[in-house]
Amino acid sequence: MTPDWTPLQSELDVWQARGLSLPLWWRDDDAISATPQLERLSELSKTLALPVHLAAIPRDADRTLVDVVTHQPELIPVVHGWAHLNHAPPDEKKSEFRLHRPLEEILSDARSGLKQMQGLFGDKLCPMFVPPWNRIAPDVVRELPGAGYHFISTATPRRTRFPAPGIEQINTHLDPIDWRGTRGLAAPNDLIVKTSDLLRDRRTGGADITEPFGVLTHHLVHDQDIWTFTKDLLRRLLDGPGVAWTAPQTDMIRRPE
Ligand SMILES: [Zn+2]
Repeated sequence: MTPDWTPLQSELDVWQARGLSLPLWWRDDDAISATPQLERLSELSKTLALPVHLAAIPRDADRTLVDVVTHQPELIPVVHGWAHLNHAPPDEKKSEFRLHRPLEEILSDARSGLKQMQGLFGDKLCPMFVPPWNRIAPDVVRELPGAGYHFISTATPRRTRFPAPGIEQINTHLDPIDWRGTRGLAAPNDLIVKTSDLLRDRRTGGADITEPFGVLTHHLVHDQDIWTFTKDLLRRLLDGPGVAWTAPQTDMIRRPE
């Protein structure tokens, strides 16, 4: 079945007609090593001229990942928790950074994540914290600037740009994977309508129009349908009001403007 892109195209046409622009960013989670899938992700990023913010798991990230990222300027490493371990009890949703253990222990993991990633990637690292499963307690968010982070990224439209002093929220908004069902591509027409609805919310004041619009992928589990849909969606956004957005990396943050 060919997806029906009309609902999104109509919304994009309105944005274009009004001269609006959509800062667009791409986050991809769970990297630890160089793989053929990572190669494919990197190629797609180059084709689209849209960088990928690669949320790597600090405890497990290895030298092969460092080698690839070092040679591919379109791959921007960010910090994906510490070990991607679930600390929630079985009757709660999985999380590594909610308050299921002493705060000091949680913060120690957040600090270890940054330190490990800085050691691996140096100034190429963006000091963005991406909690596994997009879940984190507000008490932990408040402590992130003290741990050295500048950005926090979870999912759904942000309610406020700065959830705590010194930390900026840059979320993701569309994830094409049907995690609770087939773990393949969710119904494409539903994804298209959802994207269109999210953009309309921004245009009509229901959501922050200045927040970079984030597409979230997981390159290690993509089938062909997910690759194709992701490419088609990003292409359409970029052909319309979408403008590639890149999070500042450490060397840019250090350098005064
Ligand atoms: Zn993850």
